[in-house]
Amino acid sequence: MKRVAALVCLLVLPLCSSASVNDLKSRAERSNYAETSRYADVIEFINELQKLSPSVKVESFATTNEGRELPLVILSRPAVSSPREAALSGKPVVFILANIHAGEVEGKESAQHLMRDVATGPLAALMDKIILLVAPIYNADGNERIDINNRTAQNGPTGGVGTRENAQRLDLNRDFMKLESPEARGLIDAFNRWDPHVVMDLHTTNGSYHGYHLTYAPPLNPNTDARITSFAREKLLPAVTRALKAKHNYRVYYYGNFVDPQRPTSELGGDRQGTPKAWATFDHRPRFGTNYIGLRNRLAILSEAYSYLDFRARVDVTDKFVRSVLQYVADHAAEVVSVIREADRRSATSGLTAGNEEGFGINFELKPSTKPVDILVGSVTRTVDSRNNRPRLQATDEARPVKMAEWGEFRAARRLSAPAAYLLRPDQKPVIDKLLAHGITVEVTRREETFDVERYTVKTVARAQRPFQGHREAKFEVVKADAQEKFPAGSFIVSMRQPRAPLAFYLLEPESDDGFANWNFFDEETDRAMKENSSAVFPVFRLKAAPATPREIRR
Ligand SMILES: [Zn+2]
Repeated sequence: MKRVAALVCLLVLPLCSSASVNDLKSRAERSNYAETSRYADVIEFINELQKLSPSVKVESFATTNEGRELPLVILSRPAVSSPREAALSGKPVVFILANIHAGEVEGKESAQHLMRDVATGPLAALMDKIILLVAPIYNADGNERIDINNRTAQNGPTGGVGTRENAQRLDLNRDFMKLESPEARGLIDAFNRWDPHVVMDLHTTNGSYHGYHLTYAPPLNPNTDARITSFAREKLLPAVTRALKAKHNYRVYYYGNFVDPQRPTSELGGDRQGTPKAWATFDHRPRFGTNYIGLRNRLAILSEAYSYLDFRARVDVTDKFVRSVLQYVADHAAEVVSVIREADRRSATSGLTAGNEEGFGINFELKPSTKPVDILVGSVTRTVDSRNNRPRLQATDEARPVKMAEWGEFRAARRLSAPAAYLLRPDQKPVIDKLLAHGITVEVTRREETFDVERYTVKTVARAQRPFQGHREAKFEVVKADAQEKFPAGSFIVSMRQPRAPLAFYLLEPESDDGFANWNFFDEETDRAMKENSSAVFPVFRLKAAPATPREIRR
């Protein structure tokens, strides 16, 4: 058969490519959705796709702990070969991130189907409006640990799935701020270079038995530019929700879990008793990718296919959701580019973003809806997998609307003014290297100088009892006072007049719940000083005005 096809190809070229496209299938398709793709399957799929279309380019954006190169596929027409060319095209750049949790595998399959249809098929016209970047297998090391004992409650694939964590046992969707994995460092470097306007992060739910095929979330941190959040909440997500219902009869809504209305931060999980009374979203902290992207002044969409739908249905709804978002971005390309540019402009001129004129939030709380909302309640049936005696859950058709309180957004419980710049001494190079990894611009002073600063004194440090991601997260209690401090040449200035100011604020403030202090970067020196003097000077200082001292720019 193959030889005949090759011969026909030589004679009739157009037939050749269409015949080959029909041969190009993901492992999910080839196995009738019994199995998910291995790393080698994904690489082979990309190689074959490249042979079919000049619109497909590939780069490697990271090497995992176990030595796997992570592919980033660039789909564009006319084809671009560099971030510079992508920026010059004026089109929005959209980044699809799949398989960050390697047990949640439908994003990886739908990403392959999407690339095929964009590169060679019915979705090619998208490339006239957007540039598409796809990272189909982010947690590649976790993916290769496929086992029928992973995520056993999930409704397939029966051939098993990978692990949540990478080879270091880190959850990559908690590593966006501290960047301790080679995967996250490579991904942020790709974000810095390609600077995508929109990022989609593809997952599968855990927990509550709801009546949606897929749930979604925009960036949830209140320090995100309000125009980005409202573009997502008031325009893109409602339009996509309507389109999925009208075209495919899919029910999609904001991500949540059923919670105790008295304690909305504690999930009730799947095995709740009685009718649920409240629905709450997950978390405001930027250790989660979509919240992190928001602090970079970019639009992010979290996609969570419902765990108890069968594998084929989860791939399909993820596929339809991603395509619908891409179509909306393509149809509103100029608006997307302008919302992002405006957010960057505000950060670069004032350090703040729209909605944060009185300073950035430093403590946050869930915000209840003003009135009860119809949330669809679902149910599941159970079968036992005879291979491991573990229950597998299947969604029923139930989708019963129940009016209940919704905690779908966060608000700042306390705000803090942003300084004109942060100032750090030369011994803080490890912290500075992390800032540079996040694409934050740092300047280096060229002479010794005394500055008027705001200085934090650390009063207490409370460390979490339970270790998390190899850390015992630290909560700093500080007081701020004006002071004069001498800084040697080679000290670091982090201006807050730059596009990534909201991210710099979150990383550097001592009371931040996801910054360097939280992740123990300052523990050693703080502990030492507190032992000696019962208090410690926090090594990040605040400047009220940008100093006129000579300095060099680092990137
Ligand atoms: Zn996940």
